[in-house]
Parts: sequence; structure tokens; C-alpha cells
Amino acid sequence: MEITISSKRLQQEVIQTELCTSCGMCIGLCPYIKSFKEKTAFIHQCQVDDGKCYNICPRGETDWPQMDQEIFGKQRTDHVLGNYNQLLFARAKESDFSQKGQYSGLTSALVSYALSIGEIDGAVLSGGEPGKMPEPTLATTRDDVLAAAGSKYSAVPTLLSLNKAIEEGFKNLGVVGRPCQVLAARKMQLRYNNPSDLPGNKIKLIIGLFCFWALSPEFYEFLAEKTKGANIASLDITTEDLVVRTNGEELKLPVENIRRFICPTCQQCFDPTSEFADLSIGSTEFDPGWNTLIIRTDKGRELIEQSIKDGIIEVYTYPAERIPLLLQAVGNKKKRVLEEWEPTYLKLNESYHRAVERGM
Ligand SMILES: Cc1cc2nc3c(=O)[nH]c(=O)nc-3n(C[C@H](O)[C@H](O)[C@H](O)COP(=O)(O)OP(=O)(O)OC[C@H]3O[C@@H](n4cnc5c(N)ncnc54)[C@H](O)[C@@H]3O)c2cc1C
Repeated sequence: MEITISSKRLQQEVIQTELCTSCGMCIGLCPYIKSFKEKTAFIHQCQVDDGKCYNICPRGETDWPQMDQEIFGKQRTDHVLGNYNQLLFARAKESDFSQKGQYSGLTSALVSYALSIGEIDGAVLSGGEPGKMPEPTLATTRDDVLAAAGSKYSAVPTLLSLNKAIEEGFKNLGVVGRPCQVLAARKMQLRYNNPSDLPGNKIKLIIGLFCFWALSPEFYEFLAEKTKGANIASLDITTEDLVVRTNGEELKLPVENIRRFICPTCQQCFDPTSEFADLSIGSTEFDPGWNTLIIRTDKGRELIEQSIKDGIIEVYTYPAERIPLLLQAVGNKKKRVLEEWEPTYLKLNESYHRAVERGM
């Protein structure tokens, strides 16, 4: 029998199958959906047939080519990085951002700048102390943005703050999120924007992080044990190590030690670079003073051009010799997802399958 009720589809296709990414987007949209320890749960069965909860879920059925068409007005030619306009190295110029930020602090500098010029009136971020369970947060000032800087390597239900902010009357919101959160925010923007008072119309800027996987909350118990409860100043995950900085000391643990905390849904994620964002931001994998920046939409391009002009950030051409490394890392992940998992939420066309056969 075909299941049509949204909450049933969400439970059967996403929650029971452990595909929920804890993005937080459905929480608060419906009074029956709550979050506990980053897990999403229904406290009551809702009977709405065509509810937002399933329609905006990043692991609800997603027609990838259709998303491309709706956002970029064209199909992609690059099956690894998706549609984009420019690939760059970039960094924040002000030291406040580079000191507090994960790498150069580019993301925080851009969010703070977008707030300062009125492009957005609030930004949905993931705050909290490094090494402790993070919290969704709404930033309205530069100080709020700086307080939420730095990567939290777990799946924070950040987007529940978006729903709260919309309820509170914010009209122009920015979102910084993992790729799954970008997809959820973009679905909301595309599907619930008419009439103009719907939530989709309040999302004005979407900055996506690169993310190959996020960790479950149990990671923080492991961390407390390894650091014997010391105060953690910052965390980084490189290709080889988990790097934990406590007061003056640096602890390096092989990344293999934390693989068991990877959220199961991340194995089926086809989008390591936030393909549907306005801007995608990641590490450079070799110079922590810079970030990788992918400009995808006109909105993203305008923000970058203006922030360069106003001296907020600087950019340079992505080094040609590093492009194959980036393409290989992202391409391999996508190929693995399609070949090992054949995710049922993902609707692709023939060109993707041909790209996989060619090695992406
Ligand atoms: C779970 C996770 C996995 C990642 N994996 C990779 C990877 O494999 N390769 C790679 O190149 N980059 C990865 N990144 C991105 C990288 O860690 C940096 O966040 C990114 O390069 C931006 O750097 P920045 O200096 O501009 O950050 P900052 O200026 O410090 O800004 C970081 C922003 O990210 C937000 N944020 C922090 N944690 C989360 C979270 N869990 N969910 C949503 N938003 C969050 C913060 O609120 C802040 O606004 C990952 C990030 C996360 C959160």
C-alpha cells in the first residue's frame, strides 16, 4: 500500500532507517516532532497528507537534476563539484576571525559582513564550546557570530533555530550548515515561498560547509575520557588525525579512533561540498590560514565581490596542482555512495550513472 501521509513517510523512510541527519529542519514546523540528544522523534502521529516535514527533509525523496534546474536554471556538467561559478582560495582579513575561526574564519567574516550591510537580519549558526555538545544559535551581531565560530564535528540540529527565528518575525535569514542542512533549507526556500509570508521566503543566504561526515553525540563522551575532562580550546580533524588542543597542549589521535562515531546517514550522503548552497566553504587540506571557496550562485558571487571591495576578505586562484586532489576526494566519496549504498532517497538521471562509470 502506498504511504502518503508525510509523517509516516518520514518515520518509515528516514527515522526508522537511521537516515535522519539531525539537520533540525522539521523540528518546530510541527508540534509533534522533537529533538533529544540530536535525535529526531515523533511524540504523536500527525495525519497531514502533504506535510512540510517530509517535503523539506534532506533524506526525503530528492530529484537531484530537478534541484539543479530550479536553483541554477541548468543541468550540471561537473558531476563531482556540481554547478558553480568559481573555485578559489579565500581568507578573512581581520585577525578576530582567523583567531576564532576554524581556519581563516572566512565563513564567520562573511556572515558578520552580511549582517552589517543588512543583507540578512539574523544568521542560524551552531554555537557552544569546543568539546561539548553544540547548540543551535541565532546570531544578530558580529560578537554572536564570533562566539559561534569554529567547527563542531557533530550533527547539530541547527535548523530548529531557523524555524524559531521565522516565528519571531525575522525576515531575511542566513544559514550556515552542513550539506544536508543546505539541502533542507533550499527545499524550504523552493517549495514554501508563495505566498510571500511563507518560511521559504525568509531564507536569503545559504552558506554550506564541506562535510564528509559528522559524529554522533557519543563522541563527546570519548573526548572527555581522552582529555581527562581538560578544557578543550579547539578541535580539528585532518585526513589522518583528530587534533585536540587543550591549554597549551596538543593531543593527536588517529582518525580511525573516531570512525565508530560517524552517523550512519553520512555513509549515504552524496553531497560532500554543499552543492545547493550560494557559497560552499571548506579547508584547503594544507594551509589552515586559508579556506577553499566555491561560488555557486549570483547571490553568492555578489556577496564575495562586495566583501572583497570592502576589504573584508581576499581571494586567489585555486592552485591548479591541487584541483585533481579535491576532485579525487569528492569524486571517490560520491562513487562509493552510489556503488555501495544505492540510496533510495536519491533520484538521479542517466548522466550521473555514466559519470560514475567513467570514475566521476
Ligand atoms: C561536521 C563537519 C565536518 C566537516 N568536514 C570537512 C571535511 O571533510 N573537509 C573540509 O574541507 N571541511 C570540512 N568541514 C568544514 C570545516 O571544518 C570548516 O567549517 C570550514 O572550512 C569553514 O572554515 P572557516 O574558517 O570559514 O570557519 P568559521 O569561520 O569558524 O565558521 C564555521 C561556521 O560553521 C558553523 N558550524 C560549526 N559546526 C557546525 C555544524 N556541526 N553544523 C553546522 N554548522 C556548523 C559555525 O557556527 C560557524 O558559523 C566540516 C565541518 C563540519 C561541521
